[in-house]
Amino acid sequence: MQYISTRGQAPALTFEQAMLTGLARDGGLYVPDTVPTLTPAQIAAMAGKSYEEVAFDVMRPFIGDTFDGATFKTLIANAYAGFGHAARAPLVQLDSNHYLLELFHGPTLAFKDFAMQLIGQMFQAALSRSGDRVTIVGATSGDTGSAAIEAFRGLAAVDVFILYPHGRVSEVQRRQMTTPTEDNVHALAVDGDFDDCQAMVKNMFNDFAFREAVKLAGVNSINWGRVLAQVVYYFTAAVSLGAPHRQVSFTVPTGNFGDIFAGYIAKRMGLPIADLVVATNRNDILHRTLQTGAYTKEGVAPTISPSMDIQVSSNFERALFDAYGRDGAAVAGQMDDLKSGGFQISQGAYQMLKDTFKSGRASEDETHQAIKTYRQNHGELLCPHTAVGVHVAEAHLGPTPMVTLATAHPAKFPDAVKAASGVTAPLPPRMADLYDRPERVTRVAGELAAIQAVIRERIS
Ligand SMILES: *Cc1c(COP(=O)(O)O)cnc(C)c1O
Repeated sequence: MQYISTRGQAPALTFEQAMLTGLARDGGLYVPDTVPTLTPAQIAAMAGKSYEEVAFDVMRPFIGDTFDGATFKTLIANAYAGFGHAARAPLVQLDSNHYLLELFHGPTLAFKDFAMQLIGQMFQAALSRSGDRVTIVGATSGDTGSAAIEAFRGLAAVDVFILYPHGRVSEVQRRQMTTPTEDNVHALAVDGDFDDCQAMVKNMFNDFAFREAVKLAGVNSINWGRVLAQVVYYFTAAVSLGAPHRQVSFTVPTGNFGDIFAGYIAKRMGLPIADLVVATNRNDILHRTLQTGAYTKEGVAPTISPSMDIQVSSNFERALFDAYGRDGAAVAGQMDDLKSGGFQISQGAYQMLKDTFKSGRASEDETHQAIKTYRQNHGELLCPHTAVGVHVAEAHLGPTPMVTLATAHPAKFPDAVKAASGVTAPLPPRMADLYDRPERVTRVAGELAAIQAVIRERIS
């Protein structure tokens, strides 16, 4: 299997190359040239298997000969060994036909650990084989950064720099990024918002001299390896609810479109998914796009679900690529128009997107109410992102079981959860001293040159 760019102008790569590279040289994102399918019998055989066994079955067809089967099994086992729940991604019932998929039992209490822990293992294995050293640079609205730092801390072949918007991440998120003591971990607080951070990371990748000089590697949600790792839990959840004999729907709190895109891949692989519902907070570019066919940027408004405070949704490009019949030139043209504010999706492509994704949004008040109501009536304490999801899911409940992805632990956003429910969610015991550990962070201006200078200096 080869990986091709959504903009059609970069060389095709192997899984290993695509994973280590992140963004393609033409500015596009890598996608597999074909999506392998699993038969209903293969999916049925997943019933009763461990998370790790299903992970192997789902991901193996995508990795080519990057790792042999036994090695890949070991990497998967190591990736999930540190999770605080034996099922890794347990399902909890909220209502007769509504379930919560708890994706917050990893080391940083958000779903991003599922992908990042595996990426850390795969990077380590690939780099120690080749003897290379790389500089990982990532932008975060909070959860990616802590997950990346947790996955790469102390690895000899990697320096990890995380750019986060100063003052716009929760205290738990910030401390998870600033308290690790390993020398290869660098938290950078940038003056700007998440989109500024993300744009700077993209610009670093497009600065080829810099990219070569520091051996840049990316682990943002644009990295195909991350999307792939997230496909797995759609299978474990659907199979426990009766797939392939029964259809299942999913509602996904969405920002950069990585997690929901993983659901789309699961569906293309043959998992019988009925609805894939995109749930946004008031930063609703994806909801508006799916309602109108026009993708237009607006300013970012800070919300109580900060990991979804995004206006340019990187992974949406992968969906567009398929919607345009894999026409890289068409995607490149639309992305050019985005620089001047937005674009109109062609009729055919828009129809494909509307047929594939449903959507809804939750206001701040609705998010708040959902936290309160689910605490009172269901006994569940939801993080604000998950609350956006359950609010939107309620409008899509029907005869098909609905699974809402619980993307973070409520203790990761204690202020918003307390304000809405009156309850303080305690941190799990292994993190109880987080507030006592000393912090280490570098404040930087929101300028590309300034950030590049810090990176060059630190790795020299
Ligand atoms: C990253 C994140 C999201 C959004 O996920 P995307 O893959 O970017 O759409 C939602 N909730 C939480 C808690 C997150 O950390």
